[in-house]
Amino acid sequence: MTGGDGAVASPDAGSAAATDAPAARPRPLPSRTLRDVGSLVSSGLIDPTRRDALTAVAERYATAVPPAFAALIREGDDPIGRQVLPHEDELVVAPHELSDPIGDDRLSPVPGVVHRYPDRALLKPLLVCPLYCRFCFRREHVGPDGGVLDEAALERALDWFRTHREVGEAILTGGDPLMLSPRRLRHIVTALGEMPHIHTIRVHTRVPVADPSRLDDAMADALETEKAMWVVLHANHADELTPDAVAAVRRLQRRAIPVLGQSVLLRGVNDREDAMEALLRAMVRARIRPYYLHQLDPAPGTARFHVPVAEGRALLRRLRGRVTGLAWPTYVVDIPGGHGKVPLGPDYLDTGNGTAVSVRDPAGRSHVLAAEEAEG
Ligand SMILES: *Cc1c(COP(=O)(O)O)cnc(C)c1O
Ligand code: SF4
Repeated sequence: MTGGDGAVASPDAGSAAATDAPAARPRPLPSRTLRDVGSLVSSGLIDPTRRDALTAVAERYATAVPPAFAALIREGDDPIGRQVLPHEDELVVAPHELSDPIGDDRLSPVPGVVHRYPDRALLKPLLVCPLYCRFCFRREHVGPDGGVLDEAALERALDWFRTHREVGEAILTGGDPLMLSPRRLRHIVTALGEMPHIHTIRVHTRVPVADPSRLDDAMADALETEKAMWVVLHANHADELTPDAVAAVRRLQRRAIPVLGQSVLLRGVNDREDAMEALLRAMVRARIRPYYLHQLDPAPGTARFHVPVAEGRALLRRLRGRVTGLAWPTYVVDIPGGHGKVPLGPDYLDTGNGTAVSVRDPAGRSHVLAAEEAEG
């Protein structure tokens, strides 16, 4: 199957080019985060006729659209609006969709810790996010009033890291760790930094694009440590990388914190070749190294975002050879049930012809690797 021309709900939604500055909006910009359907309607982001249906959705799944994100929405179902505005289809659960799609719950030795791989584990100090992605794989868990570890629970989680000396990397996620105050964030970073076996601390966040002013110097200072600190920014469309967002990222980079990018492949957001290319290039321009492109996890009510794997592979194959290698993410799926993340290609090796080993070039032509033949 080839991508781009299949059953796309809104054919042009994913193709807004990064270079198009958002058009002047007739709506007044909200000064606060929009958290309910009423305020989304009065900001002009949702049509009043949908109020009742979407109120039911917003009662089921947390909703938040911070001003910086609201400012980027030209119309409700564009690549930015689609990510954060509630939609009627969220209450339709497909048979394969799961409340805990990647099996985190089973792998949690103490509250706030998820341990799946021998050398690294997740620390989730809270389940609050600056915005709530409608496709979130943890959507049954995240929300504004849930899951902040209290002091005792946080100490138990840190103790787990203290006593598991085989775990050298702590991955702060949530929710969004940058929704903590700088003081609480610094407490966690310092505690982890004092554990001799912890050599790497990673922070996964959407704050730099969702609420750039929150990542101020105090927040960036809270992440300073002598251990290897890496920040992974979740962004899905080039428009998210506004000058303010890039400036927020820069506050990390100035402190010698490398910033990686992760994105989810999403129908109507970045499933078209030009949109994906613009996203990856915007990251590289901001010195953000694309790390993972995630296949959508099957969380409840997210089917409208699904892009088939074959289409994702075809999309990346078309970019190869044209876009700088610095921009190249690994396309991964988190195998439902807690079996881990694995790459989905595309791959270029062709072993199906006897002893010969061939590879395909970006144009699809096959070439035998002579050295391999000599060895076989
Ligand atoms: C994704 C994930 C990680 C990190 O995996 P990397 O491939 O190192 O980015 C670690 N633990 C859990 C439970 C995860 O889901
Ligand atoms: S920021 Fe991450 S954890 Fe929060 S809603 Fe979005 S995908 Fe989920």
